[in-house]
Amino acid sequence: MTSPADKTLQEFQSKFRGEVLLPGDTGYDEARTIWNAMIDRKPAVIARCTGCADVMEAVAYAQKAGLVVAMRGGGHNIAGNAVCSGGLMIDLSPMKSVRVDPVARTATVEPGATLGDFDHEAQAFALATPLGINSTTGVGGLTLGGGFGWLTRKYGMSVDNLVAAEIVTADGRRRRVSADQDPELFWAIRGGGGNFGVVTLFEFRLHPVGPEVFSGLVVYPFEQAREVLSRYREFVETLPDELSVWAVLRKAPPLPFLPEEVYGKGIVALALFGMGDAKEARKRLDPVRAFGRPYGEHLGVQPYTAWQQAFDPLLTPGARNYWKSHNFTELSDGAIDTVIEYAAKLSSPQSEIFIGLLGGQASRVPPEATAYAHRDTQFALNVHGRWEDPADDQRCIAWAREFFKATTPYAAGGVYVNFMTEEETDRIAAAYGPNYERLVRAKTKYDPENFFSLNQNIKPSNE
Ligand code: FAD
Repeated sequence: MTSPADKTLQEFQSKFRGEVLLPGDTGYDEARTIWNAMIDRKPAVIARCTGCADVMEAVAYAQKAGLVVAMRGGGHNIAGNAVCSGGLMIDLSPMKSVRVDPVARTATVEPGATLGDFDHEAQAFALATPLGINSTTGVGGLTLGGGFGWLTRKYGMSVDNLVAAEIVTADGRRRRVSADQDPELFWAIRGGGGNFGVVTLFEFRLHPVGPEVFSGLVVYPFEQAREVLSRYREFVETLPDELSVWAVLRKAPPLPFLPEEVYGKGIVALALFGMGDAKEARKRLDPVRAFGRPYGEHLGVQPYTAWQQAFDPLLTPGARNYWKSHNFTELSDGAIDTVIEYAAKLSSPQSEIFIGLLGGQASRVPPEATAYAHRDTQFALNVHGRWEDPADDQRCIAWAREFFKATTPYAAGGVYVNFMTEEETDRIAAAYGPNYERLVRAKTKYDPENFFSLNQNIKPSNE
């Protein structure tokens, strides 16, 4: 006898082109494993999609079987929403195609592509669009939350460069959205995350970048942190959009340009990036080398793709991670003092406090232009708790939470939706900021049953 549930599954399997994985199948555990090792969930079914038709079948199946749905792009989201307990995991990672039109300067990107996949294709034509700083992150999740990286000060957020998308909504329909087609849905997905459907194709505007850029690190002893961060704050105030400097406080990794005795000691590392003329970038960024007395530096011209991978060794998958994040419009003395206080008692050798620089073009776009609203953010301050042993969970999480609490008085109140951990449901309205009510209206229209609920969830007004 076949139960109705089995029959629905069998029907789905017969129509699906990709792999359907069930618990116990070869590849099931690999497919459900995501970047953050804190997440260990077992979907009832994993649908490894090969194209839009598979996504439509998967949505129809989940609707019919009454299954909760998770969507996996690059699998980097810290909250782990890419995978569900029970339910259907729509795994988009097999869909990795990136097609570049170098004349129109656009890229058409499938939702399983990573930043590395994207850069590989676009840099063949010395083109790029603003994405993140770690090549294994997924283009999909990063873009739908806003997306920022080294090119953001010059060319805006990833969503500012999204010109169109194709999306399968909860009713099973595939829609093309752009400024002219379904503009409200197009607005909502540019910052509203995975709330509105499964995006099966992204179309980006590209810009000339590289193929070589000026970039690298200047590493100072932690003891000089106050001076270095104060000088940093002042320096970036007048920085041209082509340039960027981010800061990280952590224990020194074994970087070949540092003396061996520095490994494991506290450091403030400044990461420098300059697009355009390398000589000009070097000259304009030169003062960063004299914020204190560095342990060492490694600066020069290198391929943009190499710089995009420079931090990969520190951000490998498989570690336990707990992050907290705040947006800042300025780095006050109080914020700097608190950063230093907590960097002095890092919870593990891999934990870090990280300051990303935004502003520039990202801040010139009005907050209501896209669902991503935090246009006044100048700095994103993250605490990255990262460790290996589950026995350290409580201690490392507590450190991150305490730091987060201590910096709250100096923060702007908003948070980047892509850096939120699972339990931050109380920060949802703050994450979507002034666009929250409009997003609720869009959610009510396009997903009234909250079919897409595993995300930083915007609840429809009828729920
Ligand atoms: P996934 O976990 O696969 O997806 C996350 C969520 O996005 C899903 O649960 C789903 O709700 C939604 N989603 C994904 N794909 C789709 C789709 N096709 N359709 C609909 N919804 C979808 N962010 C930055 O902006 N800049 C950075 O430099 C940056 N660096 C990072 C470095 C690391 C090491 C990590 C772990 C994260 C970083 N992030 C950065 C945050 C990153 O933007 C988020 O983690 C983002 O969610 C990752 O997208 P993903 O596709 O890899 O994740």
